[in-house]
Amino acid sequence: MGLFSFLRRRKPEDYDEIRVELWDAVRAGRPAFASLSDDEVSALRRMASWFVDVKDFVALGGARVDEADEAAIALFACLPVLRLGPRWYDDWSTILAAPEGFVHRMTSVDDAGVVTEYDDELSGRVTELGPVLLSLPDVRDSGFGDGYNVVVHEMAHKLDERDGALDGCPPLPRSMSRRAWRAAFGDAYADFQVRAARSSSGRRAGRASRLPLDEYAAESPDEFFAVACETFFDAPSRLRSGYPEVYAQLATFFAGGA
Ligand SMILES: [Zn+2]
Repeated sequence: MGLFSFLRRRKPEDYDEIRVELWDAVRAGRPAFASLSDDEVSALRRMASWFVDVKDFVALGGARVDEADEAAIALFACLPVLRLGPRWYDDWSTILAAPEGFVHRMTSVDDAGVVTEYDDELSGRVTELGPVLLSLPDVRDSGFGDGYNVVVHEMAHKLDERDGALDGCPPLPRSMSRRAWRAAFGDAYADFQVRAARSSSGRRAGRASRLPLDEYAAESPDEFFAVACETFFDAPSRLRSGYPEVYAQLATFFAGGA
């Protein structure tokens, strides 16, 4: 900051690509990067350098965030905004990185006003206009093709809340229809809630019950959106065959509405 704060105003295209050894370490075994063109890889690596420079990485509770962790977080975080553009992340600035077993003291208040305090071991969380909290072990487990990616998940919440409402619908490019989005996601969410309930009640045990998304998607429309985004990047064929309309909406959205 201070004398060098002007550097922070540079655009992603002014940055050098993230170092090749970091890029190689992060992409190894992670299919989301394999489908990118050479131009997209260059743009992503430049955007990741920009992300590391402009966002503050803060280690919590003895976490050790090394360069490869920063690169992994940056590359995953930039994947959803590669075509949408970096301005989508201009309303927050801090990544909090938590170590294994990091426990967060939570307070909930029920309808009767009873306050319950509990400890919540978390993989990630966002606060409105505020920091993004990520568990480092979960970051390291993200993106290996099983539909799990805590960074993309939390970034999806950041995109969603940009219009002030965490409701599973981010502000859409002009070329997209909010009604079509709501129809695609509403139908899929309703269907998924039924399937998830069935699968957890054990009435359909075995392979046939395998859900297209992680069960956590049944939690709420905003979690459904965040989990669908994880799956879109990490196991796209699962989302495409399970919920083709949702897949199509996300494909258009992440392409910048084109
Ligand atoms: Zn979530």
